[in-house]
Amino acid sequence: MIVIDGKGVSGGLARGPICFLRRSAADVTKIRTDNLKAEQDRITAALSESAAQLKILAEKARTEADHETAGLFEAHALLAEDEIYTETIMNILREQQCCAEYAVQTAGEQFAAMMTAMNDEYLSARAVDIKDVTRRILNNLTGAADNGIISKTPVILAADDLTPSETLQLDKSKILGFITAEGSDNSHTAILARSMGIPAICGLGSGLRQEYDGLDACIDGSSGKVYIEPDETALSELETQYARRQEFRESLEDMKGREDITLDGRRLTVCCNVGSPDDIAAVQNNDGSGIGLFRSEFLYLAASDYPSEEEQFKVYREAAEAMNGKRVVIRTLDIGADKQAAYFQLRKEENPALGMRAIRICLNRPEIFRTQLRALYRASAYGNVAIMFPMITSVWEVRECRRICAEVMAELDAEGIPYRKDTEIGIMIETPASVLIADALAKEVDFFSVGTNDLTQYALACDRQSAELDRFFDPHHPAVLRALKMAADAAHAAGIRIGICGELGADPELLETFLAIGIDELSVSPASVLPLRAKIRETTAGTCTLDLLKC
Ligand code: PEP
Ligand code: MG
Repeated sequence: MIVIDGKGVSGGLARGPICFLRRSAADVTKIRTDNLKAEQDRITAALSESAAQLKILAEKARTEADHETAGLFEAHALLAEDEIYTETIMNILREQQCCAEYAVQTAGEQFAAMMTAMNDEYLSARAVDIKDVTRRILNNLTGAADNGIISKTPVILAADDLTPSETLQLDKSKILGFITAEGSDNSHTAILARSMGIPAICGLGSGLRQEYDGLDACIDGSSGKVYIEPDETALSELETQYARRQEFRESLEDMKGREDITLDGRRLTVCCNVGSPDDIAAVQNNDGSGIGLFRSEFLYLAASDYPSEEEQFKVYREAAEAMNGKRVVIRTLDIGADKQAAYFQLRKEENPALGMRAIRICLNRPEIFRTQLRALYRASAYGNVAIMFPMITSVWEVRECRRICAEVMAELDAEGIPYRKDTEIGIMIETPASVLIADALAKEVDFFSVGTNDLTQYALACDRQSAELDRFFDPHHPAVLRALKMAADAAHAAGIRIGICGELGADPELLETFLAIGIDELSVSPASVLPLRAKIRETTAGTCTLDLLKC
């Protein structure tokens, strides 16, 4: 048994085979093998699977597209069955004693290079076909598909790191857990894993080795430990822990249906953060008092083109209806920095966290913003929807957002489309600028929600993505807690409510501080609702102090 240590970023236990994410043909590495027969069989199976898929595509193209496209797929199928191509792959396999993937990739590259070198326009174009067929064969070998599905059976997915869009595009039914070499607690991938309730460990560094691919493993998302080929003692210890945690969770069942209220009657509402309507079942199962943050950008990240007004409306309406009158705060598009979608064609930036992201993109590209706002207002007719703007730094930004909202409402009026005119508008407090001018901002909006992930990043000048900076990224820092207090005082002076929707909200150690500051709402991953409610119900708000704000 080998044990590797990382940072547990999403609790829970999982057991299954480790499977390394293979992004594309470019990621194939040469793995030596003694079992050439097994690799040969894999190649033969992948070749015939590819040829069969291509023949089906050719059929489909003949009925649904045109003869030219059908002909192209037929030519691709012929290549997958071509004797010279197959022989070349098998020769490489024998000569290099390597894995099937490496042999296929090398043969594909050699064939493509040969075609390009012929200096003939027609043959050069065939190089692209060879690459395409090679990619298909590789996908069939690895179980990966163009949409990022990794394996045919559920696995513990391993990778150097995962981007939020990769995480979203994975087939969740095949993922038992995530383990990554890089990454941090505050990365969006960790946040996504928590909201999906999938155990995850990041920051495993060089301890996570490619040679573990395919081995049986157990991961403990709470302790951050990965057990490769776990022995009997480790397994029984993990089973005991699992039973203990189950018992704890069952003891919390009693908290369902109870109010989020302290012993002395102070209300601190516990809502949930979600990334898609798929997460709403978990909100309901954990009796969340509402949705305090719906990260709408995940809708954009999971798509290959801008989601239309109709597509968005459907999703927002579904969320509003499913929550049955409970409040659903939908944050407008917060894309940029680590959340990239190729079709936005965002320019590569030196400092993306300080660059063109979130509300800046929406204000610069109002057509995208308008489509989303129309969908949001239309959904407001079906439940208790509130709209929230991210990454605000100035009063003029809020005014411009509100002006566009007013235009959208006027359009809907003219078209006779129903919506709620009193839909609340809030902003995220996640930049030091917004804290410092919180008094002015509070006069412009209906509520504040503090994004402590970004607020910590910007207040401490510390990249939230970096595993290396872990010890410097301290959301308990007095600067962050004082910022919270300043924003809360400004909100209450203006008579509006303030919540926390960053990851810090779920930290039970800070509950008394939040009560002393006067926070009105916490929005956390669904699994954190009941433990927090239990703690709130055994705390007396009147005796909570602000000691942690001292340096
Ligand atoms: C935050 O910054 O705390 C937040 C809730 O937003 P995100 O994590 O999506 O940036
Ligand atoms: Mg943020």
